[in-house]
Amino acid sequence: MAATAPETPAALISGIVKVTEETVIPLLREGVAAGHAPFGAAILLNGTLALHTAATNHHQDWPLLHGETNCIREFFIKPASERPDPKDTVFFSTHEPCSLCLSGISWTAFPRLYYLFNYEDTRDLLGVDGDIDILQEVFRVPAPGDTKDTLAGRPLYNKKNKYFTSVSVAELLDQVEDAAEQEKLRGDVKRVRELFSEFNAAAAA
Ligand SMILES: [Zn+2]
Repeated sequence: MAATAPETPAALISGIVKVTEETVIPLLREGVAAGHAPFGAAILLNGTLALHTAATNHHQDWPLLHGETNCIREFFIKPASERPDPKDTVFFSTHEPCSLCLSGISWTAFPRLYYLFNYEDTRDLLGVDGDIDILQEVFRVPAPGDTKDTLAGRPLYNKKNKYFTSVSVAELLDQVEDAAEQEKLRGDVKRVRELFSEFNAAAAA
């Protein structure tokens, strides 16, 4: 099969904004109303960025049903004939995936990962610090000679590794070369990020 031409950063941002506004936010409204957490994910087809699968957190049903893990589950329960090879997809996560979901994405071989909110956003906006805390406490092993500061200065995970490459929408925005297009997309991203404020408020209540 011919390789699909890579999308431009601008096309990726537009695809992510569209799926978030049209599909993920409505799913999150239902999920949050049922007591679940405001995290979602979507799997899009390479090239066209057409939506294939979207799902959100269902932790009240089962504590490990994070948005990404639930999305992977929804993807794989479809018949094999109805789903692409994960390598031909883009995996979008509203929030930078936790260690559980990063492992899930690795085990199921989704090579391209994008996210809208980073770990610090999740901590600061929602008061959820498990992403950072688990990576630090469970996975971060000090090298000989590491000080508290050198350890703290290291990335929490390899954003580019043999399983996947993880890129934030903010990084994608920086890659848009046309200044006017970048400005327009920056506004789109700001608007879609603000849609989550209703969930942030619910989490704080
Ligand atoms: Zn997770």
